[in-house]
Amino acid sequence: MTQRTVAIIGAGQAGFQVAVSLRELHYDGRIVVIGDERHAPYQRPPLSKVYLLGECDEAQLALRPDTYYAQRQIDLITGKRAVAIDRTRRKVALEDDSIIDYEHLVIATGARNRPLPVPGAELPNVFFLRTLDEASALKAQMAHAKTAVVIGAGFIGLEFAASAKKQGIDVTVLDVADRPMARALSKTMSAIFAREHEKLGVKLKFSTQVMHLLGGPGGVTAVETVDGQVLPADLVVIGIGVIPNVDLAATCDLVVENGVVVDEFLQTSDPHISAVGDVAAHPNPYAPGGRVRLESIQNASDQARCVAARIMGQGPVAYNALPWFWSTQGPLRLQMAGLPASGCEEVFRGEPGGSVCSVFLFREDKLVCVETLNRPAEHMLARKLIANRVPVTQQQAADLTFDLKSLLPKPPAAS
Ligand code: FAD
Repeated sequence: MTQRTVAIIGAGQAGFQVAVSLRELHYDGRIVVIGDERHAPYQRPPLSKVYLLGECDEAQLALRPDTYYAQRQIDLITGKRAVAIDRTRRKVALEDDSIIDYEHLVIATGARNRPLPVPGAELPNVFFLRTLDEASALKAQMAHAKTAVVIGAGFIGLEFAASAKKQGIDVTVLDVADRPMARALSKTMSAIFAREHEKLGVKLKFSTQVMHLLGGPGGVTAVETVDGQVLPADLVVIGIGVIPNVDLAATCDLVVENGVVVDEFLQTSDPHISAVGDVAAHPNPYAPGGRVRLESIQNASDQARCVAARIMGQGPVAYNALPWFWSTQGPLRLQMAGLPASGCEEVFRGEPGGSVCSVFLFREDKLVCVETLNRPAEHMLARKLIANRVPVTQQQAADLTFDLKSLLPKPPAAS
């Protein structure tokens, strides 16, 4: 008789959390987690921050000690790629020709780096920053570098830039957009980050494009932009976004569209297959357009818990967690609650020119997102305000003397 098995493809944050939650919910069948990286599941956020600075080592990145998986009877397969899914016979084939049967399959394959299609991008000392191995190689080169160019002023590029600057490296960040983190942040918060990065000594160049990377077999030496600037570089970091790993899902004819398409229960077009984390294009009640693919620890972990509960027969419960996110860029701690949308009214809350402030975003007079800089308590409060759909006016948000906490529903008085 076939043993009851949940197979999970991808040993990142989401795949790891599905396995952990299943055991916490007392799932007593077999759990197999298949990862193509050679490491046991680890945290990615420190890779661009404390890990690069040597303030945390590889062992501290692990999501659990190595012994955990055997103790919980989780079969963790590392360093092997899943190469095919046979939906009819419910089997997953690995690259070494081994086969894993499943009763339920979870696709948690995450995303991979978007390549930079310019000559020279393949030169030595041109780095991406997604995996532990990539971060380790970058960290080794940082020890010798005096100058760095970052292509892409998104979260990862700016986190790296702040870390490199702290190590005394001269850093220039380039982007085609006209402001930092343009796809994710309000114009107001974006401008504050540009100002604060410049204060740190990071050089920012916007509305420009890379033409090619210069150098030779010894490595990259400079980046040339289309407008003729030549920026010397002992190393280059490319951070221009990611591509969801949908290939396996697509070849077994699951519905795929900027991610593996799932319903509100995170189920794919096959009821025996779910998808979670960076790869899942899911309907989100907080997303203006309905379906969205999010790249955050919150999303990966909460979706994993939701699917584990459904596999255990609890529900089905629709996934409706409030999205939240953080990014630490040197001394700048950005936190976001809710999802931004284009065309929002932006309301600044703070002392002008200060590095402790917030931006409240309103759509049709409804609070939909709050971005905070170095204000963790206000971020926690914002999560409650948005999740409970508490009415907040733009005047209240702008008035620093107004106590936003007073708007929260009062707990019922004890009788
Ligand atoms: P991943 O973590 O990408 O895991 C997917 C795994 O599946 C990978 O190991 C991949 O190699 C593997 N895989 C893919 N295909 C196969 C296959 N066919 N067979 C076997 N294995 C396969 N988020 C925040 O909220 N805050 C932060 O500050 C933050 N900082 C970050 C810093 C960095 C440098 C990076 C890279 C990400 C950061 N993130 C942050 C984002 C966050 O780490 C991701 O959203 C999260 O890791 C997504 O988890 P996941 O499991 O969906 O995907």
